[in-house]
Amino acid sequence: EISVDGVSMIFGKKGKQVTVLQEISFDVYQNEFVSLLGPSGCGKSTLLRLMADLLQPSSGQIIIQKEHPREVRLRRKFGIVFQNPTLFEWRTVRENIELPLEVMGQDRSVYRTVVDQLLETVGLMKFKDYYPWQLSGGMQQRVAIARALSLDPPILFMDEPFSALDEFTKEKLQYELLEIKRKTNKTIVFVTHSIPEAVFLSNRILVLSAHPGRIHSIHPVELGEGRSLQMRESASFHA
Ligand code: ATP
Ligand code: MG
Repeated sequence: EISVDGVSMIFGKKGKQVTVLQEISFDVYQNEFVSLLGPSGCGKSTLLRLMADLLQPSSGQIIIQKEHPREVRLRRKFGIVFQNPTLFEWRTVRENIELPLEVMGQDRSVYRTVVDQLLETVGLMKFKDYYPWQLSGGMQQRVAIARALSLDPPILFMDEPFSALDEFTKEKLQYELLEIKRKTNKTIVFVTHSIPEAVFLSNRILVLSAHPGRIHSIHPVELGEGRSLQMRESASFHA
């Protein structure tokens, strides 16, 4: 469904260039829950932004459902959740979730039920008329997740969506995400620097191994029974 083919990303001007991603190739298949795992600064967010058409690669190409990410983005075929929820402060919870539907020109009477359902899914029905500043961080992140799901995109990109949250909230939202995944069967690409989180959530883990400022390879690790054991073996990238 998503094909990343020989993608490199070089930041900066001549003389002061930094290669962040070097010839990265991998595929993400339909209905997979894939984690992109690696230490801070290795280029995970950069890679996710490239897939979501928020950045253009220096070389190589990315194809999503046989198209350029631009086309896919314009047709709202993926949703994005960032580390820090980027909500509109002057809009209520409900209005934040409604925004993409509104932008797509859908009729309010039509999407009311959709939004109600999303509010139920993320457990925010009681808070639908609150403004973001009246919510905790975990609740705000739930709004961001609901908003990313509002157009029911087949693909969800998530960049460390839970890493700013406390352990209790994090675990709760991890279970909720698995529940959403079970119900909707979306393709999810999930960026994290937490090995346990990647092991807990995903069907497959892509490990970005970074030398200072560079990425040399991606090692797919197939997970099945005995996930943690396999992870321990492949965790040597950490050293
Ligand atoms: P973290 O886990 O801390 O979020 P990450 O793996 O997501 O890290 P990136 O945000 O992708 O890492 O950044 C990778 C490298 O690319 C960093 O060294 C960063 O400074 C550099 N970088 C990212 N965006 C830019 C930019 N727009 N211009 C220059 N350098 C950048
Ligand atoms: Mg990042």
